Amino acid sequence: MQVRNVHREHKVKQNILIVDDSEISREILIHILGDEYTLYQAENGQQAIDILSENYRAFQLVLLDIHMPVLDGYGVLEIMKQRGWLKELPVIVISSDPGDAYKRGATDFFSKPFDPDVVNVRIHNIISLYDRYYTDNLTGGLNRKGFIRQSEIFFHGKEDKTGYDLMFFDIKDFKAVNELTGIANGDQVLREFYHDLCDAQFAPILVARIEADHFVCLSEQPEEGYDFLNEICSRRYEKNGKTFQLNVHCGIYHLENKPMAISGMIDRARLAEGFSDSEYGRAYVIYDHTMKNVYIDNAELSSSLMRGLEQEEFKLFFQPIMDVKTEKIASAEALIRWQHPEKGMISPGMFIPVLEKDGYISNLDMYVVRKVKEFLTDRLNAGNLTVPVSVNLSRIDFYDEQMMQEILSILHSGQLPSGAINFEITESAYAVIEERSQAIVDEMRRCGAKILMDDFGTGYSSFGMLQDFDFDVLKIAMEFIHQVGRNPRTSAILQSIIQLSHELGLNVVAEGVEKPEHVEFLRQSSCDFIQGYYYSRPVDADTFMVMLDQQKKQCEM
Ligand code: C2E
Ligand code: CA
Repeated sequence: MQVRNVHREHKVKQNILIVDDSEISREILIHILGDEYTLYQAENGQQAIDILSENYRAFQLVLLDIHMPVLDGYGVLEIMKQRGWLKELPVIVISSDPGDAYKRGATDFFSKPFDPDVVNVRIHNIISLYDRYYTDNLTGGLNRKGFIRQSEIFFHGKEDKTGYDLMFFDIKDFKAVNELTGIANGDQVLREFYHDLCDAQFAPILVARIEADHFVCLSEQPEEGYDFLNEICSRRYEKNGKTFQLNVHCGIYHLENKPMAISGMIDRARLAEGFSDSEYGRAYVIYDHTMKNVYIDNAELSSSLMRGLEQEEFKLFFQPIMDVKTEKIASAEALIRWQHPEKGMISPGMFIPVLEKDGYISNLDMYVVRKVKEFLTDRLNAGNLTVPVSVNLSRIDFYDEQMMQEILSILHSGQLPSGAINFEITESAYAVIEERSQAIVDEMRRCGAKILMDDFGTGYSSFGMLQDFDFDVLKIAMEFIHQVGRNPRTSAILQSIIQLSHELGLNVVAEGVEKPEHVEFLRQSSCDFIQGYYYSRPVDADTFMVMLDQQKKQCEM
């Protein structure tokens, strides 16, 4: 027998094991319960143990007769207790006199002849009682344990797992939603996102919130591809009169026919999700086996960071930012890479979120500031061409008093010309910056450093940001640029943003520019600067120096 039907509310039909040597009894129970549950049968205790040994978690309930040949009901309870199954799997004893059954771990009993109403109500109540362990209080849906259990139930007896996906969703910067709208509204957003997943057109078989702002789905592989995820992952929500867009990233693991625990599948989907930060313009990343090679677990990561910094495993890359009019390098963004001794080159999307969680990000960001200062000082001392370099700051950096003082003292020292080092702060980080941090930003600007608002347009109230905060340069997120030529609305919005920025005295950088038609559009729209693969990928310091030297030569000619 197989689990065939999927419940309307994306629940898998529940599996019940009937253990009774009387064929007639089994048939009556099948008649009473067959519509609602998937029923498995065992003729004696030993058969029941054999079935449960395969995967007891695939069952929600055992109906157990006491008097049976080979191994009786008491024997079954004994073994289930010894193996720890009874903690998760309730047993209803079929007997007019349960005798010792309660003591041996049975949950309830009913007697023959069966009264269909009594049988149905008791079974329903007991399954609901145990379901509480598997339910997420916030959404009312499955929690992690429940998802694992239901997935096991779903796959029980299925030979072929290919054709199914496990998807892992992470709501980025969810803390900012809480801070912006309050915890209660934040909770409501999590509930709405859960329901949006349940109702999504790809009709997931199972949906769960497995922790905080992480969700998982089990689904059939969609024939039409995964682009529908872009919409789900950037849906707008309204709370407290504030409209904001969630930025959700998704990792997808295509199930394979090899033995693997459901938790292993979740890990793989989560791992793929970790790569999504470097896959701009797409909300999802599909797992492939090469990802495992660069996987570093969080604990290892934090501890190896210090070693990495000491051993200079982190390398600074520079990505040129071009002046649209002259097509010369106007400035550059410093982007960090980790040259891990065993894992090879690791992109920041893999380790920055972990470092932000652990608070170690500030060590790394300060390292970048010092390296940029060194780079610029060396070039200036040698009389070579330099351009301003911007460094990414994380929101967490503003809580690091020492780091902020070190940055301010570099800026105050006058060792570098004013405006040589600038700072990029993402829109979502800027949105939750406190007054004290704002004072530091103001001080940086007084010292001549420019503040670039990064990823503009991906946050919760982009236009509110323009009104409320002082900064110098607006960097338009690449998600927008990639819509140029595809979505006429985006093009109109981009033109308005550029015009509005100019009216506010801001310069505009377009990020993620890859195609000639992007460049042409931006030129016509009077965008000031362009950053993207069209001109150059991020390059190492030596290559960047060659680029600057060439530019200097051209100027001299
Ligand atoms: P970001 O600040 O938005 O940086 C731009 C990212 O876009 C870089 O990814 C860059 O390689 C990529 N990119 C540039 N041009 C193109 C293009 O034309 N097409 C596409 N598809 N991508 C392009 P990267 O280097 O992987 O960095 C990812 C993120 O990691 C950065 O996003 C930034 O938020 C963060 N990051 C990088 N270095 C640092 C750092 O030193 N400190 C902090 N706090 N964050 C950093
Ligand atoms: Ca940036």
